[in-house]
Amino acid sequence: MVSEPFGDGTRCVHGGLVPAEPGGPVPPQPVMASQFHLSDDPSADFYGRAGNPTWRALESAIGALDGGSCVLYPSGMAAVSALMRVLLKPGDTVVLPSDGYYLGRSYVREHMNGLVVREVATTAAWTAETVAGAALVLLETPSNPGLDVCDITAIARLAHAAGALVAVDNTTASPLGQRPLALGADIALASDTKAVAGHSDVLLGHITTTDPDLVARLRTERTVSGAVPGPFEVWLAHRGLGTLDLRLARQAENAAALYDVLREHPAVRSVRWPGSPLDPAHEVAARQMRRFGGVISFELASAEAAARFLAASRLVSSATSFGGLHSNADRRARWGDAVPEGLLRLSCGCEDTRDLVADVLTALEAAI
Ligand SMILES: *Cc1c(COP(=O)(O)O)cnc(C)c1O
Repeated sequence: MVSEPFGDGTRCVHGGLVPAEPGGPVPPQPVMASQFHLSDDPSADFYGRAGNPTWRALESAIGALDGGSCVLYPSGMAAVSALMRVLLKPGDTVVLPSDGYYLGRSYVREHMNGLVVREVATTAAWTAETVAGAALVLLETPSNPGLDVCDITAIARLAHAAGALVAVDNTTASPLGQRPLALGADIALASDTKAVAGHSDVLLGHITTTDPDLVARLRTERTVSGAVPGPFEVWLAHRGLGTLDLRLARQAENAAALYDVLREHPAVRSVRWPGSPLDPAHEVAARQMRRFGGVISFELASAEAAARFLAASRLVSSATSFGGLHSNADRRARWGDAVPEGLLRLSCGCEDTRDLVADVLTALEAAI
């Protein structure tokens, strides 16, 4: 396994490669089989829903980056919902971010029975009372779309004292940006649809934990529920992971440059990017994150101003999701997020910084 002391780029490029074999392929190859020749070896593959070499290759790569054992799911929400089904039973209390990805809240409220749901803002003053009686505390830091940050280590200490497990939705940070398990969380999960796959052409998610019993329960539940990713999608995401380090570096460069011009612009009311020392989340973010990504948010005067900005930009498409090669922006209020009408979440892509900054400045003229 390629792990420390190699750097992020090396680990992304080499993660999950099969051992070299003369005449064998260098990159991982997708194994599309649903059936395998049966064997007396109980660890051998036998049916595609239970496991296959393509899953194992990417699980090994992501698990090494997260620092645990990874279980893949067909989407980020499939990972979130599987975790809830496996860990929670009726009567349990679950603490969820009030300002995090909206479908997590919908799932526990509308699709699971009998849970006590406590919604807490990422920037709340977390105390023993906030987590009292909880079975699971789910954090999302940086949060989507607000880009607020909470102290994983401090909250994990509180939650563990209360007997709760702590899971962190690590989607915005990516496995290179933050290691929740090393910071004291029990579970890291993410939508790999975003930065890990990175090319806006596949949905995928994962859960990573160091608890072998939880890994076994997740794998069994995945097999029985049938919420399994297709090998081709997993292979695409593995191919994408190879350039995660490079893509994140360019995206963060673009975010830093855009942060500076947005901050100064008269059409922009506020701008957030935890990577900037000027951002209110920076102090905690800098302590617990390894590096920053390309997602920023900023507020224009109104929904109409945001629409004019999007219509005027040639490089920033109006689309939801983030972490891909192509810059995009999403007016989150349209999805019901409790944010100002003119707030845009902008996912910086891998365009040249000069081009992206010039394009955004031109589009902002239309938003004034
Ligand atoms: C996108 C996202 C999800 C859901 O992931 P899908 O792959 O779209 O199912 C969960 N959490 C966060 C923070 C996200 O941004």
